[in-house]
Order: sequence, then C-alpha cells, then structure tokens
Amino acid sequence: MIAMPAVVGIGGNVGDVAATIRAALGALDATDGIRVVAVSSLYRTAPVGGVEQADFLNAAALLGCGLDPVALLERLLAVEQLHGRTRDVQWGPRTLDLDILWYADMAIAAPGLTIPHPRLHERRFALQPLVEVAPTAIDAHGTPYAEILSGLPLDGVTVVTGPSLVYDPS
Ligand code: ADP
Ligand code: MG
Repeated sequence: MIAMPAVVGIGGNVGDVAATIRAALGALDATDGIRVVAVSSLYRTAPVGGVEQADFLNAAALLGCGLDPVALLERLLAVEQLHGRTRDVQWGPRTLDLDILWYADMAIAAPGLTIPHPRLHERRFALQPLVEVAPTAIDAHGTPYAEILSGLPLDGVTVVTGPSLVYDPS
C-alpha cells in the first residue's frame, strides 16, 4: 500500500477535549492504512461563525495514509461518532470535529468532500497547526500555506501545549 501524506484538523469544545483529541489520534493510528506521523501543538481558539459558545481546542496531525480521501473521510466521521459527535447547530458546539484539511496536493470537489478544506485559507485555527506539521504544503495555485498563514490576523489563537503532550506517535 502506498501511503500518501494527508493533514487532518482536529477540534472540539465540549467535554475533556484534550483527552478526546488524544483518543481520536489513537483511534486513527490504530486504523489499518493510517499512521500518525506528526502532531501539532495544541491551540486554544476563539469560536468562529457567530454562535455563542466556549473556546475550542484545535490541533492537526500529519498522516501517512493508505486510504483514499473518501475512505479517510468515512473513517473520520466514524471516529467522531465514537466520541459522541452530534450535528445540531451548524458551526455549533461539538465534542470532536475531524476534517481533511489537505491530502497530497490533491484538489477534490465532490458533493460530500472538498479538498483542500474550503475554509482553510481563512482560518488561522486550522492553518497554523497544518503549517506546523506540513510546512511545505502548497495550495491549488502553488502558494505555500505558510505564506497564506502569514497574511492572516494573529488574534484568536494561542498555544496551550507543545506536540508531545497532545499525542506521542512513536
Ligand atoms: P464543519 O467541519 O464545516 O463544521 P461538519 O463537521 O458538520 O462541518 O461536516 C459536515 C460535512 O462536511 C461532512 O459530513 C462532510 O461530508 C463534509 N465535508 C466536505 N469536505 C470535507 C473535508 N475536507 N473534511 C471533512 N468533512 C468534509
Ligand atoms: Mg467537520
């Protein structure tokens, strides 16, 4: 099986989110065809989208992924379900959100799956951890995500812990 590099964004704001993130990364690492290669720092981030709710914790993981993008998304949605994810309010509170941010420089626009993630360009809470684990990733126009990140406002995102306290992939 050929492993492709992919970056998954992880977030939540209900329950013990740091523990949920660690457990979700363990579940992904234990999946046939998925290996967690690197994990970002843990970030505390202000909610976006206008819903009044608690701050989020966010991180990202670089995967070595033998699953195709659709199979990876299915696995992510299954791991969300394991952690009690419900979908009540769009952009509302959630125990766990797992998004495919980037998959091997591929561009996909299918009904249930857009890669790169459609709002990645405007969200520091997703871009900053992505750049931490995949510093050379580029978007569909060839622009490095690191460069896009440097143009975003600094507010709303602070580091809580370094990567080793999030999940140890070794
Ligand atoms: P959001 O993450 O934008 O808050 P949800 O987690 O509720 O929204 O996801 C809604 C749907 O978004 C998922 O069921 C999935 O089919 C779709 N989706 C489209 N592109 C992606 C992607 N790159 N990663 C994850 N989900 C995606
Ligand atoms: Mg999602």
